[in-house]
Order: sequence, then structure tokens, then C-alpha cells
Amino acid sequence: MPPTFAQLGVPESICRALASRGIETPFEIQAATIADALAGRDVSGRAPTGSGKTLAFGIPMVATLDPAHPKRPTGLILAPTRELADQIASELKSFAGDVRIGAVYGGVGYGPQLKQLRRGVDIVVACPGRLEDLIQRRDIDLSDVTYVVIDEADQMADMGFLPVVRRILDLTPDDRQTVMFSATLDGEVAKLAREYQHQPITHEVGDATPDITKAEHRFRRVDKTERLEVTANTVNEAGQAIVFCRTRHGADRVARQLGKHGINAAPIHGGHAQNRRTRSLDNFTKGKVQALVATDVAARGIHVDDVAAVIHFDPPADHKTYIHRSGRTARAGRNGVVVSLVQPDQIDDTRRLQSQLGFDLELSATNEIGPGSQSPTQRSKPANTRRRTNRGTKSNNGSNTGSARGSQSGSGQKTGGGQSKNSRPKRAKGSGQSANASAGSRRRQGGRRGPGNRSAS
Ligand code: ADP
Ligand code: MG
Repeated sequence: MPPTFAQLGVPESICRALASRGIETPFEIQAATIADALAGRDVSGRAPTGSGKTLAFGIPMVATLDPAHPKRPTGLILAPTRELADQIASELKSFAGDVRIGAVYGGVGYGPQLKQLRRGVDIVVACPGRLEDLIQRRDIDLSDVTYVVIDEADQMADMGFLPVVRRILDLTPDDRQTVMFSATLDGEVAKLAREYQHQPITHEVGDATPDITKAEHRFRRVDKTERLEVTANTVNEAGQAIVFCRTRHGADRVARQLGKHGINAAPIHGGHAQNRRTRSLDNFTKGKVQALVATDVAARGIHVDDVAAVIHFDPPADHKTYIHRSGRTARAGRNGVVVSLVQPDQIDDTRRLQSQLGFDLELSATNEIGPGSQSPTQRSKPANTRRRTNRGTKSNNGSNTGSARGSQSGSGQKTGGGQSKNSRPKRAKGSGQSANASAGSRRRQGGRRGPGNRSAS
């Protein structure tokens, strides 16, 4: 039996607000992290998309934060994209009572954001670039911040935001609580954690990589000249697809050429300004764009619930990239097809890739493209998608049950609404946090906490 929110120490008013949205039982990552975060610990959390990370970091922040003075928020949430910032703000508002939440990001006017800051917000959900602007303009001051969340830290790293994230963190008090969530916790993210967290507790949930076994994987032998036509046909059959290219230049070119084949395609890569990327993504989500033509780096920022097809126009650099790219389709129990275009001189590499993935596939000829053409059989889940088990290439089916996916109720329904203005959750010290009251109040009463103060509770 998973614990209830109340058993994790979540104040009753928040439990009630969540319950009114049908949120009664914590998801795995929430059950793992909420008590620690409520207790004032720095937390590093890794969990896949859709596993409920927003509430995992949002509930403890709303529950423990002190009210803020105008332009001096006490809580700060950093997020890589504007959509995500909006999404986080509205999810938090649904249970925040009169804890005031505001979002700041670029690509829109300053007016409304300034007005909101002057009136005062307790929690600012911010994209790093605009936040830094506002700091330089002295429209916001971070010296009262006691609680910072870095959401999608790996994506921030991929998008080149870490230098500005560091500058921002350097402007917050040293004894703040720092909570970080990410799809991966290695590399740059691990470094950030080392620099800015104090004795963090790490919680990891689910597979480190997407489960790609649900998709149908096709490998098509094509000549260089046939690739566009095959891609266009595949996009048309599928309805919508993400097409992966190796370079930015290639992505631009393929998008243009798909246009000539009657496909409404948009390139998306790191050479575009954030607002252009956002627009392309929006148009794709709304169905106005049929094909997103992406580089691998930009793809990290693509969170579309489910895509009908993934096309490897250029081969992935390695099997990990294959898994990440392919994981964009066949999500949440839906169907999906993954098509790899293989030119004659890429066949050897492709066979190597297939064997690394544990696939047992044949290359088929171009003219076999079509719906329902013989679908390859896959022996089992690729060995390399399994976390921290490096025993050979043959994976044992069904052994990998750690996924948080199974525990979700479905996809992204948001009911907004929530609390009335008057039902402010008690922000009194330590109240309502049965399991962690002592640690929680220690955090807030103890004034500035150095690393040494952060004993495990
Ligand atoms: P992530 O940030 O991990 O990608 P989100 O925080 O966006 O995931 O959550 C995905 C969806 O699941 C959201 O619509 C959210 O409202 C819903 N959700 C989160 N936690 C729960 C829960 N405990 N019970 C039911 N629904 C939940
Ligand atoms: Mg999220």
C-alpha cells in the first residue's frame, strides 16, 4: 500500500484541494520525495515524464514557504521552457490556496509580469533568461529565497542554460533548500547537484531510459535519393511524426524538402530562438504541423504526449540515442512506429545497432513501405534499456518492473480551479506535517542553515 499524502506529512488543506481534483494517492516519485522535502532536505529526483514530478516538488514548497514581500519571492522554481513554466504555475495554483504563484518567461511583454511582482508573489516559476533580465532591471530580488526547485535539470543542461542557472543560484542565500528533478542525474546535472546541494537525498524511480518495446520498429533500406519520399510517405501514413536529423543544417533542409512533398514540416533545433521553438512545438501539438524535423539536442525539449511515428532520417549516433529518439512514440499504451532509413553504406552499422538493442530484425526494401507490412519481431526488451544491470545482451523479459508508468491514471488532464481565495493553507511553522513536523520546523526556525546543519532526519 502506498502511503497517503497525509501520511507523508502533507497539510490537510492541501490534501483536500488535491482530492477535489481526484488526486488521492501519491505517485511513486511523490511518495519517495515529499517527506524528505517537507523535512527540509535537499532532494535529487529522477523519474520519467508524466510521473508526477510537479506535485513532488510543488507540494512541499507550497506547504512550507513563508509569505514574500513584493519583488522578493521566497520560493523559486526554474524551468527550461515557457510552456512548462505555465504548466507548473497552474498545477500549483490548483492547491496553493492563497500562496501566490507567478510565472516569468521571455517572448512576451514585461508589463503583466512586473505588475505581478510588484503586487508580490511567494513562488516565482521562471525560465532562466527572463529571470536574469528581471534581476538586472532590479524588478526582482532573490535574497529572500529559501527554497529553490530546478525542474528538468537535464533539459536545462542540453539547452545551454546551466551558466545562467548557476548565476541565478549564486544570488540566492546559501542556506536555501535546493530540490532538483531531472530525467537523468548524471553528467552536468550531477555536477550542478554537487555544487549547489547540501547532502542531498537521491530518489530514482522507473527506467532510466524509455521503454521502446511497445513500438513497431522497421528498418528500411533506401538509396540517398529515396529518403525524402519514404519519409513523406511514412509521415502521411502515420499522420504525425518526428523526423530526426544529424545536423541543424540537415534538419532545415529536410523540413524544406518535405514541404515540397506536401508535408507541413517545421524544423526544430538549437539554432532557433526559444520562442520559435515554442511556436513550432505548439503547432505540432495542435496538429498544424505534421512533421517536426529535429536534431537530437532540440528533441530533449520536446514533450509531446504521444507521436504516431519516429523516423530516423539520419542514423542515431549510438544505441542510446536510438532509444531516446524512439521513446517519443508508443507511449502510454498507444501504438507507434519507428522507421530507420538505412543507406547501403550504413548497413553494417545498423546491424551492430540492432544487436546492441537486442533486436532481431531484417532490413526490408524500399518498396515494402506501407501500413502493416511485415512487422519485425523483437526478441525482448533491449538489454541496454535496463538500468544498472550489465549482464550481457539478452534481457530477461518482465524483470524490469520498476516503471512508474503503470501507476498513472492517464495523461495530462488539468482541472485548474481548486481553492477559493480564503482557504489559505496554514503556513504556520510545522503545522499539519505530522510525520516530519520536528524536522520541518527546525528548518524554518533555525535561521540560516549551513551544510553542517543538514543532518539526515
Ligand atoms: P512530470 O513532471 O513527471 O512529467 P507531471 O507532474 O506533469 O509529470 O504529472 C503528469 C500528470 O499526472 C499531471 O496531469 C498531474 O496532474 C497528474 N498527477 C500527478 N500526480 C498525481 C497523483 N498522485 N494522482 C493522480 N494524478 C496525478
Ligand atoms: Mg514535469
